[in-house]
Amino acid sequence: MQSFNFYFDCSACETCGGKCCTGERGYIFCNVDELKLIASFLKLPFDDFTQKYVKKVGYKYSLIEKPDVQVEDSYACIFFDTIKRKCQIYPVRPKQCRTFPFWNNFLDENSQDFRYLIQMCKGVKIDKKDN
Ligand code: SF4
Ligand code: SF4
Repeated sequence: MQSFNFYFDCSACETCGGKCCTGERGYIFCNVDELKLIASFLKLPFDDFTQKYVKKVGYKYSLIEKPDVQVEDSYACIFFDTIKRKCQIYPVRPKQCRTFPFWNNFLDENSQDFRYLIQMCKGVKIDKKDN
């Protein structure tokens, strides 16, 4: 099994301001079960929820984004509260969000993705014991 060359300190999220939920445009992919869970959490009929908050990307589904009112030329996930800087659907956030930063593209510490991660997420700590 592959292992990551870092560990994650979730206390960093308290003061981060949600860098992983904001920034450049991107995708927050969800499967249908995850979408149903979010719709239910928001007490919205599924069709209304998907029409308002979901876009199709090829054969996948992503939550849409909105401008981040606090940062110029920046975007935020539609469920990111840009004033309180918090996820509004945290208990039912999709797997993509729950597993961050332990994504396969961050396995290689020499990759550009990994260098970007280190700069972006202050909760990511290099495990000095293994280096
Ligand atoms: S970027 Fe990292 S530290 Fe900031 S909220 Fe996301 S996971 Fe937490
Ligand atoms: S669902 Fe929540 S944790 Fe995931 S990107 Fe949106 S605001 Fe961030």
